Amino acid sequence: MNAVEARIRTAAERAGRRREDITLIAVTKKFPASVIREAWDLGVRHFGENYVQEFERKAPELADLEGATFHMIGHLQSNKAHKASELFHSIQTVDSLRLIERLERMRKRLDVMIEVKLSGEESKSGADPLLVPELVRWLRDCRYLRLRGLMTMPPWSDDPEKTRPYFRRLKELASRCWLAELSMGMSHDLEAAIEEGATHVRVGTALFGPRRKE
Ligand SMILES: *Cc1c(COP(=O)(O)O)cnc(C)c1O
Repeated sequence: MNAVEARIRTAAERAGRRREDITLIAVTKKFPASVIREAWDLGVRHFGENYVQEFERKAPELADLEGATFHMIGHLQSNKAHKASELFHSIQTVDSLRLIERLERMRKRLDVMIEVKLSGEESKSGADPLLVPELVRWLRDCRYLRLRGLMTMPPWSDDPEKTRPYFRRLKELASRCWLAELSMGMSHDLEAAIEEGATHVRVGTALFGPRRKE
């Protein structure tokens, strides 16, 4: 916890940014509810989960964690929108008009981000950058969904200099759409992300160690 905090502080300082303008999201996929509770005890208030069903199992044990915000950061199928809107405070992976419609129909106030796919990788989810302006227009007309910014997950590389150009492109796209928040950067490249303007970094391994394989 302290090591990650120090990394965020150092990167913010180097970039001439304030620590308060960067939110640490602790990514707890594949870890039990007890790990979330321990992190909460240490002061963590933002958590990221990837799978609706997995978090549905953990959520009942976490109902008493005051001030905790749970972000959906994994791909969300529109048939799970209903459940997700009940479980989460924020959905960072909105990537289609269909999903926007389904979520808005739940009439629950939710912060959302548009997930953008900046690489051609077949397997990755996220909206094509060309579709982003249209999604932004739709979200601005929503009554319950509040658009906060953009999120991305670049192709994996252990070299942060390889992911930096993706962070920069997300920032440019967000500026063009007048969006303030950027969710980008993980355990191994959070410094580069903060230097490029991340307002939310999503960190799993560096906080909790390796996840078990499926
Ligand atoms: C798992 C995951 C992370 C955290 O990755 P680490 O390398 O463990 O920090 C961040 N974002 C998303 C979308 C993830 O699925």
